[in-house]
Amino acid sequence: MAIREILTDEDPALHKKCHPITQFDGKLSDLIDDMRATLADAGGAGLAAPQIGILRRVVVLMDENDEMLELVNPELIGQEGEQDGLEGCLSVPGLWGYVKRPKKAKVKAQDRKGNWFEAEGEGIVARCFCHELEHLDGHVFTEHVDRIYTSEEVERIMEEEERKGGKGIKE
Ligand SMILES: [Zn+2]
Repeated sequence: MAIREILTDEDPALHKKCHPITQFDGKLSDLIDDMRATLADAGGAGLAAPQIGILRRVVVLMDENDEMLELVNPELIGQEGEQDGLEGCLSVPGLWGYVKRPKKAKVKAQDRKGNWFEAEGEGIVARCFCHELEHLDGHVFTEHVDRIYTSEEVERIMEEEERKGGKGIKE
């Protein structure tokens, strides 16, 4: 198990369509284990294989119980409602933007052995499903934003929200 380098937005790997996984073997398990270690080390909400330079349809992300979910060949099969909130990306460090996403999202995916299953997410997990699945088609959240915010600006917005007693921008 190894922590891999997370590529930034400038890397061409972040802008390519990834290939489906067809072999559910030890190599896939090693990749998923490395992705888990890399995500845990980075402390992010999710990581897609192209972010470590592997053009395969594999995602790991944190679910609502703060457990890591592994999605191989994931597909969005349902969505409901809408939410607008700040979004960031491990490949776009220190920058944020408001992105509209469904409030609820449902995916089907395979596990590391190839068994299909379905998973549902709400709020930040739904946001994460959409964000990570987009990576597999070569898209990054910055494509959806009108304006990019720095971490400093985000901190200021959060303080302001807190002062107003609002529910804040953290989903
Ligand atoms: Zn990302």
